[in-house]
This record gives sequence, C-alpha cells and structure tokens, in this order.
Amino acid sequence: MVGTMSVRQQQAELEELQAALRVAYDLAFDQEPPAGEQAEVLVDALRRALVAAQALSDGPGETGCREHPRGAVDPLHGDKQDPLPPGWGRCLLCNDRRRRAAGRRRR
Ligand SMILES: [Zn+2]
Repeated sequence: MVGTMSVRQQQAELEELQAALRVAYDLAFDQEPPAGEQAEVLVDALRRALVAAQALSDGPGETGCREHPRGAVDPLHGDKQDPLPPGWGRCLLCNDRRRRAAGRRRR
C-alpha cells in the first residue's frame, strides 16, 4: 500500500488536520499573543497540521510513518531471524529513537 490512501485514512488525516488547525486558530486569535508554553503548543499544532496536510497531498510514504513519511525503512523490518519488537513500524528514524530509549532504560 505505497502511495495510496484509503478513504478511512484520508478521513483520519483530515480530522487530524482540522483538530490541529482549530488549536492553532484558538491560540493565534486569543486575546493575548501566545508566549512560552502556549507558543510551543502552537508550533506543535501547526507541525501536526502540516504533516496531516502533507499526507493528504502525497499519501503515506514508504515508511508509513506520519512523522517521517519520506524517511528510510528499517532494514530489520520483516526480518525473521531478528524480528522487531511488536508495535514497531517500518520507519528507521522512529525505530532508532525507540532503540535509544530502550538503551537508556537498561542503563
Ligand atoms: Zn518515523
């Protein structure tokens, strides 16, 4: 399912886009200009809106990852000798982050 998007997925992206934009709109049109934590929430909301809008325009990439749709695919994905932990996706960037987090926890 590369480059194509189901109607349900499209709907989910659209809802994500709308929810994120609503948050951004509320913050941007508030009485007070967003500052500090509020400004961070605004940046995060706009980032989510951008990712969702991008997914609507090009569909999910090879990785199927919302954050890194054009990132590399983890070469261990689908490896039967050395399978990835359950719940891990195909995105190498996200899996590396999980590996680092797991490593920190062990130490
Ligand atoms: Zn990712």
